[in-house]
Amino acid sequence: MTAKSNQVSVVHTIAEVRQWVDRARKLGRTIGFVPTMGALHEGHASLIRTSVAQQDATVVSIFVNPLQFGPNEDLDRYPRTLDADIQVVQACGADLVFAPSVREMYPKRQLAFVDVEELTAGLCGASRPGHFRGVATVVAKLFNIVQPDVAYFGQKDAQQAAVIERMVADLSFPVRIVRCPTVREADGLAMSSRNTYLSPEERQAAPILYRALQEGAEAIRAGERDAEKVRRLMIDRIQREPLARIDYVDVVDESTFRTISYVEGNIVLVGAIYIGNTRLIDNIPLAVPETS
Ligand code: AMP
Repeated sequence: MTAKSNQVSVVHTIAEVRQWVDRARKLGRTIGFVPTMGALHEGHASLIRTSVAQQDATVVSIFVNPLQFGPNEDLDRYPRTLDADIQVVQACGADLVFAPSVREMYPKRQLAFVDVEELTAGLCGASRPGHFRGVATVVAKLFNIVQPDVAYFGQKDAQQAAVIERMVADLSFPVRIVRCPTVREADGLAMSSRNTYLSPEERQAAPILYRALQEGAEAIRAGERDAEKVRRLMIDRIQREPLARIDYVDVVDESTFRTISYVEGNIVLVGAIYIGNTRLIDNIPLAVPETS
C-alpha cells in the first residue's frame, strides 16, 4: 500500500505518467483513476477518496478538454485553479496529479475520435452537439495514458457515466468503471465547478432543479406511473422560478437514456436548466418496482 501521507507528485507530460505508472505496476500496485477538469470541490474529492480507499495508488487528471466544449460555450472562462486543486488531491491522499497542456494532449489536429451512438442522441447530447464525442475521446486517450485498473465517475453526470461505461464495454477497455453518488450543498444543489459562475441571487434560485426532480421522484414513489404527468409536474415547478430557464426535463430509461411514457424499472429523472448564463444539470436515479 502507498503511504497516504506521501507528498502528491505533479506531472505535465504523458511520458512522465507512463514512467510513474510503470513503476507503480512493477511494485504490484492497483491503480485508480479520477479524470476531472479541475476547480475541484467536494464532489471530486469524494471520487478521489473512494479511489484512495479502494486502490493502492490513485491518479487524478486535471484537464479542461477543449474537444468537449461547443463554440459558444464557456471554455475560455472555465475556472482554472491548479494550485488549490493540488492541495485538494493531496488532502484526499491521492498519489499523482496529471495536468497536461492542450498541446501535450493534442499536439496535432485530432483526426481520431470515439463516438458512442444512441445513448448520446438526447438530453445533453442534443443540447451540446459534439460534447460526448469530446468526452469519450479524451477519456479513451486518458485511459490509454494512465491504464488504470478502475476509474471513478460521478452520478452527477449520469449520461456521461453511461456513455463511458458503454465505450468501455463496446471497445473492451481493460478498466472497471465505478460510479459515485452525487455530492450536494446543504440546500440540495449538486456541487459543480460551474456553480462559481452564479451571482448570490442566482445561487439562491439554483436548487430549484433538484427540488423539481425530488417532487417528480416523490410522485413516482406515491404511485404515479404516467411519465408525462411527472414531467409536467417538474416543469411547472421550475417555471415558478423566474431566474430559471429550462433546457430539458425528462424521465428516461437508465440504460438507453430514451424518454419513457410508463414509469417502471430502472429510470432516471433528469434535468438541465439555465440560471442566467449558467447551465446546470442534475438527476435522480430510481428503481421502480415493475407491476405484474
Ligand atoms: P468535471 O471536473 O466536472 O469534469 O467532473 C469530473 C468528475 O467528477 C466526473 O466524473 C463528474 O461526474 C464528477 N463530479 C462532478 N461533480 C460531482 C458531484 N457533485 N458529485 C459527484 N461527482 C461529481
